[in-house]
Amino acid sequence: MKLLSFQEIRKILLDYKIPFCKSRLVNSQEEVIKTGINYPVVLKVFSLKGVHKSKKGGVVVNIKNEKELIKAWNDLSKVEKDGVLIQEMVFGKELIVGMKNDPQFGPVILFGLGGIFVEVLKDVSLRIAPVDKKEALEMIKETKAYGLLSGLKLDKLIEIIVSLSDLSLKEGLKEVDFNPVIINEKQVLIVDARFLMENE
Ligand code: ADP
Ligand code: MG
Repeated sequence: MKLLSFQEIRKILLDYKIPFCKSRLVNSQEEVIKTGINYPVVLKVFSLKGVHKSKKGGVVVNIKNEKELIKAWNDLSKVEKDGVLIQEMVFGKELIVGMKNDPQFGPVILFGLGGIFVEVLKDVSLRIAPVDKKEALEMIKETKAYGLLSGLKLDKLIEIIVSLSDLSLKEGLKEVDFNPVIINEKQVLIVDARFLMENE
């Protein structure tokens, strides 16, 4: 099983015009304070072992100034990792968009609202790829939590679901997780992406 690196993920997302939040890989404290990404920011580890970054203390959100940033950098120095990412802090509702390549059905696309909606209530919708815009909207409307999304940027969310369906049919992937995708009135941005390749 092979997880893609941040650079590989970023290239695929760019190729398919899938919006990822402003992010940079950083190697030193000097570099992290000079990226020019406006506060508040998020600092997180990048791992090729696919561990839950937050469970390991590897995600620090809502960093508001340089002092807090340096503290977060020092805190992450103790966490096992393959790299450190700084990102813009995105505000909004958290969603999950994912894909599993099923041996029988091929790529199956999943959509749900983050947090308890997926984890406790299992409120998700599924479609076998290819998924077009009309079906993507149906997937969103099918979830019980749909009402919570009124007024938010659903057109861009639909594009993300369709693009994930397109790339799933081509790129030899076993699983993709965009968790979370953050949506508000103005934009939709992925802040965490995990790509697992099909065994070669
Ligand atoms: P993991 O899923 O490996 O624990 P994430 O990158 O998903 O790591 O971060 C954990 C949580 O931190 C997310 O579910 C989200 O609530 C929050 N978070 C992470 N990155 C951002 C960001 N750029 N903007 C806002 N919230 C974020
Ligand atoms: Mg995540």
